[in-house]
Amino acid sequence: MRPEDILVPTPVGVCCKLGGFHIDPTRPVERALITHAHSDHARAGHGAVLATQETLDLMRLRYGENFAGSIQPARYGEGVSLGGAKVTFHPAGHVLGSAQIVVEANGLRVVASGDYKNVPDPTCAPFELVPCDVFITEATFALPVFRHGDADGEIAKLLHSVALFPERAHLVGAYSLGKAQRVIALIRKAGYQAPIYLHGAMQKITDYYVSRGIALGELRPALGASKTELAGTITLCPPSALNDVWTRRFPDPVTGFASGWMRVRARARQHGVQLPLVISDHADWDGLTTTIAATGAGEIWVTHGQEDALVHWCATRGLKARPLDIVGYGDEDEADGQGNVEAEE
Ligand SMILES: [Zn+2]
Ligand SMILES: [Zn+2]
Repeated sequence: MRPEDILVPTPVGVCCKLGGFHIDPTRPVERALITHAHSDHARAGHGAVLATQETLDLMRLRYGENFAGSIQPARYGEGVSLGGAKVTFHPAGHVLGSAQIVVEANGLRVVASGDYKNVPDPTCAPFELVPCDVFITEATFALPVFRHGDADGEIAKLLHSVALFPERAHLVGAYSLGKAQRVIALIRKAGYQAPIYLHGAMQKITDYYVSRGIALGELRPALGASKTELAGTITLCPPSALNDVWTRRFPDPVTGFASGWMRVRARARQHGVQLPLVISDHADWDGLTTTIAATGAGEIWVTHGQEDALVHWCATRGLKARPLDIVGYGDEDEADGQGNVEAEE
């Protein structure tokens, strides 16, 4: 049996004919297995969806009650038989509920890892290494220049700036699902106890995190707070709001942006970001290459991002590797936010 007999790459996502399902399909299909709730992976309109409870809940929050014909929750580590294949979900360490999907048939094991990171994150279960024959990896930051470094150090920069400018507000752009809650949790871990303010667009998802037992301390809506109240405080907002009229309610704001892309100075400048914070929910170059090697897989399939560099790296290690060319995976979670303005009255 060849890996392609288990999973076939198609333009809309990988397909398991044996089990009758697609993983993270970019167009509506009969049965979808979803790695995590970011909108480029989790779309509405599938017949049946199998995903972790958190991913199903987050999809419901975003798309409404009828986001799929039927749903089935998957527990980490629990095998499910689908046709001639067995599938198991394991933590991917990317955002709350994120999973790698392991597909096995006839003694061959393929891992579709979705988006992942192998560094600690107080807001989700840690990445679990699953030895396999074929590893499907993302490549969002697959260039040697991308080394994310220490997220706690970036939070220390933010808190230093807050201490330095007690009369100014600090606005931190962060993607609404995952990044925002991780940044808040890291700020708390650093010992900051004052209320943290939220843009309205992140309220629902953040409330959901709290309902799942993620401690985020006192949170307040930025909406309705006076300029005086906002002096010396931290507010989290979608990146798109950073250059919006919405910022006028804040006293002389210092603008930050928490993203792996902040490693690239030009990107920070382009967004007028004064305080770039290199914090990413994706594996960096070292994370990707270490993980690939550790899985023991002899064959690597590479999706979304810098496929070429990673495919080349694999070849130098004697690993068989190919890019998957699936259309429609962006990196919503690391996006610049353009065309994605989440309005708040
Ligand atoms: Zn993602
Ligand atoms: Zn992705």
